[in-house]
Parts: sequence; structure tokens; C-alpha cells
Amino acid sequence: MNRNAFAILGGAEEIGANCTYIYSEGNGVLIDAGLHPQKRDKYAFPNIDALLHSKNQHNLPIDALILSHAHTDHIGGVPYILHKLPHLHLFSTRATRDILHVMLSNTIRLLTYNPPDPNYWNENDLEQYNSSILEKIELLIQAYPYRELFSLKSLNAKHGIDIEFFDAGHILGSAGISLECNGFSIFHTGDVQFEKQSLLPGASFPKRHYDIVFSEATNCATDPPERSKEIQRIAKYINEISESNGSVLIPCFALGKSQEILTVIWNLMRKGSIPHLPIFSGGMTKNISNIYDRYCYSVPRIQSGFEIADIPQIPIIREELMNGDYFKKPAIVIATSGMMNKGTISFELAREWFRQKNYGIAIVGWQDPEAPGATLLHSERNQQIAWGHTTLRRNCRVEKFSFTAHSRREKIIEWLSYVRPKTLVIMHGETDACERLAEETSNILSGTRIILPKYGKLYSI
Ligand SMILES: [Zn+2]
Ligand SMILES: [Zn+2]
Repeated sequence: MNRNAFAILGGAEEIGANCTYIYSEGNGVLIDAGLHPQKRDKYAFPNIDALLHSKNQHNLPIDALILSHAHTDHIGGVPYILHKLPHLHLFSTRATRDILHVMLSNTIRLLTYNPPDPNYWNENDLEQYNSSILEKIELLIQAYPYRELFSLKSLNAKHGIDIEFFDAGHILGSAGISLECNGFSIFHTGDVQFEKQSLLPGASFPKRHYDIVFSEATNCATDPPERSKEIQRIAKYINEISESNGSVLIPCFALGKSQEILTVIWNLMRKGSIPHLPIFSGGMTKNISNIYDRYCYSVPRIQSGFEIADIPQIPIIREELMNGDYFKKPAIVIATSGMMNKGTISFELAREWFRQKNYGIAIVGWQDPEAPGATLLHSERNQQIAWGHTTLRRNCRVEKFSFTAHSRREKIIEWLSYVRPKTLVIMHGETDACERLAEETSNILSGTRIILPKYGKLYSI
């Protein structure tokens, strides 16, 4: 066994049940334990069995689980991992700790509605998906602010690991994670956005050398358009729809995207670029926005002290979904889920939206290729599309906008050019995105070994 090793247990060449195992000189940590956005087969949860049943298993300690941020693809597998490894120390930023509670409650609901395939997962695997796990995690988790060093040492290790969180600019509480053990340095980007958004400033990662970097690659296959142009474009779209007496539906993740889009819309209203239409937003979004507001001074944001609660919003009432005022006069509806998953508010509202030719749906976030949101994006106006178990004619307008919370390729490469890692591991992206980042990085960092890891395989470094 080498002194350092790693394995990608989820999120290799996809955005899945993200989980990275890092071994350094007798210490072992997991970074993130996600739930796959769509799949409920063997890829639903991190492949922890690859470690537990590995021929090296006795040399592979797992001491801690460190969470980069609270999106479900990074934390939805936490109860599953804690069931297998109840001794784990749990670390995150303070905001992630607070958001975790809301997100895991939602994961528990989500798994009842869309359960794991019983061919791969049995009841024992999932017995921790109940509300008592939330209290357990609250007691277990140790939370740190950005740039405060803390350490961890495995019982039998000679040297411990120093750990530090850096603002990743992706959502509230998101962190890049720096790890250092006996002079060997590791950086894991988590999900990162280097450019500023409307609510949050960009990432502030250390510009120093690391021996190994784990980088996400979500956006690396394409060149996202300039943000300012997208803001102008969505303003024009909202104006056109509302002038034709229609409403705009914006499917959004409750965490991150909703707060960002609310801020974009509110800024446009304050500037007079769009009319002051009623804004409808959903229940879980409100719970998360409250946590955003709790940290409005203590975590960097574009306008310190700005609160999401300052934006006038009307709650979406689930029981009265199809009778909402957005069907009576022009309005903006910000509704979960972002990928329009079956049974969610955005999925249900879309049925009615499809019928109205003067209505519009603005897709603003990443779509898993198998999600209904992706089906909608690739559909044609005035044609039938598959929607759940039925087919519906889509009359309304559909437009895609890029308000991404993930870095463009050049910005990752720019940061890597400061870091000059000996090894770069690329994950959290579709194959073409990972390959494109690998190819362009190799052009400027000739001395860096680049790995596109195989799912579940242990690599020595
Ligand atoms: Zn994320
Ligand atoms: Zn992610």
C-alpha cells in the first residue's frame, strides 16, 4: 500500500452519488456522500462496498466524512454511509450543517416517493432514512467557518491530517477542501464557481501548489454565455410573456438556484427592467432562504446584509396549485424541482403551462439527461411530449438560460495554473466535459498527471 491513495465511489464521469475516498499515511476520509439525481439502481448511493470488500480493506481506514456542500448529489447518501460506518466523524461548514437538516428531510420524502430499486438495495441499507437520523447528525457534525484549520488523526496513523475549508462560490456554505498530511497536500474543489453570481461572490481558493487536486468538470464541455447577457435575455423573455398576458414558470432547485434567481428577478424589478409582477415561490425554498438570511453578514455575499426575505414573495400552496393567481394574471413562479422531477410542483404546473400558448417556461439549471426537464428542453413547440405516464401537447414557449453555479472551463484551468498539481483527478461531469478539461489542462500543464478515474477503482499516488 502506497502512502497516499484515492478512489471515486460516485461521480466518476457523471454527476451522480458523489463520493471521494482519500487515504493519506494511515488516515482515511470520505468527501461527500451523495444520492444520484435520477438513478435508483446500483449507482443510487456511493459504492462504499468497493472499499469495504477490497483486498486492501484492512489497510483502508475510514475515519471521517467531510461534506463540501448540501446539494443532494453530495449529501443524500449520508444516512446510508452512516449506517455502514457509524463511527465516522462528520465535518462541514456551519451553513452546510444548517442546510443539511432541510435537505435530508427532503431526501427522506424523495426516497419514499422514488424508492431505490429493491434488486440492489434492501430495507436494512435504508433504515436510517427517518427523522431520528437528523438529530443524530446534528449531534455528530462538527462545523467550521472558512479558513479555520482543524485536524483529524486515525488511531494508528503516525501523522494527522490538517483540514481547511475555502469559499467555493457555488451555494451558501459550499467549500473547497484543503487537506495536508506530513507535507503531502490535497485539494478537493467540491462544486465551484469562480465568477460572481447575483447573490454570491466567486470562489476564493488558495493560489498555491497542491500535490493532488480533485476537480469538478460540470460545465467543461461547453462555453456558458456571459452572465450579464443572460440577465438581459431573461428580462426580455419575462417582458414578452407578461405583455402577452402570460406567466413565467422557472423550475429551480430549492437550494442555491432559487435564491440566485430570486435575486436576479428582484434586481431587474428594482432597476425597472421588468414590471413588478407577483413572485410566487415554494415552501422548501423559504426554509433554505431563511438559512441564507441567517448568514447574510457572516458569509461573503455581493451585497452584505441583503436578505432574500426582503424580496416580496407569495407562497405556492400545494393544495391549490391549479387555482393559483398565476393563472389569472401575469406572474413569475419559482418552483421546485429544478429538473422538473415527476410529482414535484414544477412538473405538475408544467401540465397546465403546456396548454397556454402565451405562457413561458424558463429553464435555468443543469438537467440530468434522463430528467423531465431535459425532455422538455429537447421538445418542439406545438408537438406532443412524454410527460410522466402521459403525452401532452406543448403550446407554451420554452427557453433555456444559463445561470450556472459551476465554473467555466477557463476559470478552472486559470486556477490550476497557479496550483500546478502533480496529479489532477477530474470528476463530477459527463465524459465529454471531463475529457475536455483533461485535454486543455494537459496543453498548459505538461508536468501534471491527469486521471479520469474509473468508478470504484483504488489508485495509488
Ligand atoms: Zn452542488
Ligand atoms: Zn454537485
